Amino acid sequence: MGKQEDFVLRALEERDVRFVRLWFTDVLGSLKSVAVAPAELENAFDEGIGFDGSAIEGFARVFEADMLAKPDPSTFQILPWREEGPATARMFCDIEMPDGTPSYADPRHVLKRTLSKAAEQGFAFYTHPEIEFYLFKGLPGAGDEPVPVDRTGYFDHTAQSEGADFRREAITMLEQMGISVEFSHHEAGPGQQEIDLRYADALTTADNIMTFRTVIREVALSQGIWASFMPKPFTTHPGSGMHTHLSLFEGDENAFYEAGAQYQLSATGRRFIAGILHHAPEISVVTNQWVNSYKRMMFGGEAPSYICWGHNNRSAMIRVPMYKPLKGQSTRVELRTIDAACNPYLAYAAVLAAGMKGIEEGYDLPREAEDDVWSLTERERTSLGIKPLPKNLNDAISVAEDSELLAETLGEQVFDFFLRNKRAEWDEYRGQVSAFERDRMLPVL
Ligand code: GLU
Ligand code: MG
Ligand code: MG
Repeated sequence: MGKQEDFVLRALEERDVRFVRLWFTDVLGSLKSVAVAPAELENAFDEGIGFDGSAIEGFARVFEADMLAKPDPSTFQILPWREEGPATARMFCDIEMPDGTPSYADPRHVLKRTLSKAAEQGFAFYTHPEIEFYLFKGLPGAGDEPVPVDRTGYFDHTAQSEGADFRREAITMLEQMGISVEFSHHEAGPGQQEIDLRYADALTTADNIMTFRTVIREVALSQGIWASFMPKPFTTHPGSGMHTHLSLFEGDENAFYEAGAQYQLSATGRRFIAGILHHAPEISVVTNQWVNSYKRMMFGGEAPSYICWGHNNRSAMIRVPMYKPLKGQSTRVELRTIDAACNPYLAYAAVLAAGMKGIEEGYDLPREAEDDVWSLTERERTSLGIKPLPKNLNDAISVAEDSELLAETLGEQVFDFFLRNKRAEWDEYRGQVSAFERDRMLPVL
């Protein structure tokens, strides 16, 4: 047993922890949890805790159901929202097959594998997400519109605002769980919030996003309100994205930084952006995985609809931020497609694979988009070579089905399950008769 495992076992005793929750994520990005008694942990570190993988979305077929959850001791945290009574802790797990090999269905493994491939080329991948979500007065009844907790907008500061109280409590809890918050504010929609996490290696960030979504929902429930990461809950208000700032490091050096280059962006940085642009349609089904995700990216609202990059251009899919003073270490690119309802392990794996492909193949970066691309005509965009992102889940599935990059990155099992699941979602959706159709047709036909 290593040092970290020893530390956990000691902490369990010192803090009188009675339950340890072992967390992992299914293929669609839902958090799964199994509670074990502290006495089981030594065994869990050595051999893992057995569970029925066939009961988890996308994990296994019934004839290979036995799987093991092996806790990662570096993710040990006491859960701050179970303060009364005996303490509860949690750790993220890696999922293994009975013979000890990693499970191909484990999204955390998909990301780890992609990170190791980048590491073989000398690169470490860092991410920093800006997570947006709405606060509603409660969970609306089926078919009802949700009611936001307030009517304020971007950066608004109001006395006794529900949002500010909420953010204060949520951030305190996140910090107690070792997640540093850089920035938080009211977003543009009524009741819409944004909390930005400090940058970290992509595996830590993906774990942090899973924790974040849980903390936000717990804090909302404790205040009698409802938090949602649904990408587009209203037709007329902006959606919730998860813009993510990306950078690659080679040792201590930011590989995107080159003093004196345009926007201080190195050739590696330019190729990485080119890779993401080139493969954006294929990985869209992972960065934006729901029918609803595509409704966020339709009409501006600062969510991208077109494949282009720019530097101070919020209509662009990728933005190279320019903040002063410019520090070399902070050179990064902001990807604006991802929404917070994704599986962060799969989304970051797909984005990294696309960017790395750009580096390996030496893709050229297309010309920067200087205009507001939403206000251009179709013809102007075509003449500038600016193509649209998939317009709905069906388009995204169709390009993904032919994507070698995605199949290789997700692995055959996740790729097949994921696309089958998404196809079923689309088929169910396209058969739905909606209020839109009834309202238009019944009065006249
Ligand atoms: N809510 C917008 C989106 O869905 C982003 C707004 C912003 O620029 O922060 O992407
Ligand atoms: Mg925002
Ligand atoms: Mg942003």
